Amino acid sequence: MYCPDWLTLGDSFHEQFAAPRGLPFLACHVGVDAAAQLARFLRAQSLRSCLLVSDANCYCAGGEDVTTALCATGARVREHIFGAESFDGSDTLAGDVARSAEGLDAIVAVGAGTVCDLAKSAGDALKLPVALYPTAASMNGYTSSITALKVRGLKRTLPCTPAAGIFANPEHVATAPQRMTAAGVADFLSKCSSTTDWRASHLLLDVPFDPAARQFFEGIQQRLIAEAPRIGRGEPEAIAVVLEALLLSGFSMVVAGSSAPASGGEHLISHYLDMKSALYGTSHDLHGSQVGVATIHCLKLWERILSLEPVDVDVDQLAAAQPADEQVHAWIQDDWGAEVGAEVQRQWDTKKMDAPALRDFLTRLRDRLQQMRRELPEDMLPASLVADVILECGGPVAAEQLQAPVAEYRNALQRARYIRDRFTVLDLAQDIRLA
Ligand SMILES: [Zn+2]
Repeated sequence: MYCPDWLTLGDSFHEQFAAPRGLPFLACHVGVDAAAQLARFLRAQSLRSCLLVSDANCYCAGGEDVTTALCATGARVREHIFGAESFDGSDTLAGDVARSAEGLDAIVAVGAGTVCDLAKSAGDALKLPVALYPTAASMNGYTSSITALKVRGLKRTLPCTPAAGIFANPEHVATAPQRMTAAGVADFLSKCSSTTDWRASHLLLDVPFDPAARQFFEGIQQRLIAEAPRIGRGEPEAIAVVLEALLLSGFSMVVAGSSAPASGGEHLISHYLDMKSALYGTSHDLHGSQVGVATIHCLKLWERILSLEPVDVDVDQLAAAQPADEQVHAWIQDDWGAEVGAEVQRQWDTKKMDAPALRDFLTRLRDRLQQMRRELPEDMLPASLVADVILECGGPVAAEQLQAPVAEYRNALQRARYIRDRFTVLDLAQDIRLA
């Protein structure tokens, strides 16, 4: 079984890897003995009883192994198992989990994003440590200090204490649908476009850029790309590489204290589809699937931007071609209605540039195109390569292949820029009338 050094440190993980990097995690382990490691970890922390949260599908993947391992160390296990149908996490369900966990020492989640978010949210409310046993390599949020749950019907990202430990068995993770693994690969590769957005916002708008986030990615992207055919065949050794990449990507966000290293224009497009789904009941796809298709789009935009010459940036003409405030307001109202529209408008008003600021911005873009051409490719991969890798792993690479309305995806390309105050390539592309 392939395993990098940092994931086989066991009890020394915190001391040797996490603490020197400012990471709050006490344990992290990827290997076939993950269930036993999880049980050992709880015992070492003197956590003698726990609530095991899962759903019927995920429980089949690894729940029994985890329960057996916990019981073997003498731990008392109570179970809270959701059904087999897919469901959205909500504050109400997190409250149910918290009630089930009352009086116990810890919460253990066996599952993917939703189950882990419910466990983290309940653990946060009860101030209980949480250990995660991911059953899918589908996204990079296992290490995050936020949860994505529906609150009064609308999806919100809420701050929470991150999990104390993460334990994954690649053989169990390999039993997840291939589409989920491909989503994880795409979510990891999206950092090519998100970091490019972040670096560009540093060059064009003086947003602080922290290259420390890069320390985590040494070599892993190349390994992931090289393993694409085996990932596509669901081989556990290759799935371990995906898990490693997702955990590292999660760590980089914790260290940056922001999602900027891993959430740029491509994530806005995905959030737009999720918000539409929450508000109007339209279908949406896995986070990573949507992000992957959008990453290919954003990288293509960057490729076009970096092929421009300074003479192509006509500041006067571009400044005159911007949509009027009333037009943008109408688009936002049209998309979101009065209540959500007011919040979206607030995000946009924070980011929006007045006419002199926009002229300064366009002038700076024109003057720094050469520098951008030198520096931005450091984080980029060719859009065609990212598409090939996602395809080889079994994921969607075009809007038509997503389980979300194509019309909404097309809307998102134009209008997702308004939903968040962070500068991304979606802003730049429209400022210079590329998209
Ligand atoms: Zn993501």
